[in-house]
Amino acid sequence: MPTKSSKIIVALDFESSEKAISFAESVSPGSCRLKIGKELFTHAGPDLVRRIVDMGFDVFLDLKFHDIPNTVNKAVTAACNLGVWMLNVHAMGGRTMMQAAKQAVESNRNKPKLIAVSILTSTNQQGLNELGIKKSVQQVVTDLTRMALESGLDGMVCSAQEVSYLREQFGESPLLVTPGIRPAGADANDQQRIMTPEQAILCGSSYLVIGRPITQHQNPLQELNRLNDSLMNL
Ligand code: C5P
Repeated sequence: MPTKSSKIIVALDFESSEKAISFAESVSPGSCRLKIGKELFTHAGPDLVRRIVDMGFDVFLDLKFHDIPNTVNKAVTAACNLGVWMLNVHAMGGRTMMQAAKQAVESNRNKPKLIAVSILTSTNQQGLNELGIKKSVQQVVTDLTRMALESGLDGMVCSAQEVSYLREQFGESPLLVTPGIRPAGADANDQQRIMTPEQAILCGSSYLVIGRPITQHQNPLQELNRLNDSLMNL
């Protein structure tokens, strides 16, 4: 049976509080963690986050903070006070900003896991070039990961395709949280470089972010249990 050690984080990409809560009621805190991102947070706000936390779920607050260090420090404090399990910032915000985020976590009673986004998977080499960045995508991901870990962060959100080389360079301890996951046969939707849950775990992902393959499934709990079972012995 799935337990709170499930490696699946379901992306609650819904446009209303009611739909998000109805989905949360259809699964259980023992079978998955839940991710609240910018869409749902902008619709439903911190009250919904508290409500989902109160239902017993580990919540990943995916707001990707990126601002001056003082503002990020205060925003991270507010997120910690909501009782979330994990939150994130943009590594592009720089070392001082990430240290300010870490300091906010360290000084809070609730100490969520703090991870960073390196380069969005929607950005390619041409996008980096347009920003005046001449290094390769892989080099920038490596440099930002090093900076995040040196700043005391727990890990990164990254593509499952990046996990192997990040593990080679940074070892087993960083948390590597990977979206872009599609069970065999599932619709890719708008995701470009996908991996199955099994492949991603075997490559070294710590947690899998899965949205539509579960939330749009005709029987989300059954699909979640099936995926948990398929990962149990890996
Ligand atoms: O429905 P799907 O499984 O594609 O949902 C993936 C989730 O992960 C979405 O909430 C999306 O915003 C998020 N995400 C992503 N790629 C990234 C970072 C976050 O798909 N690089």
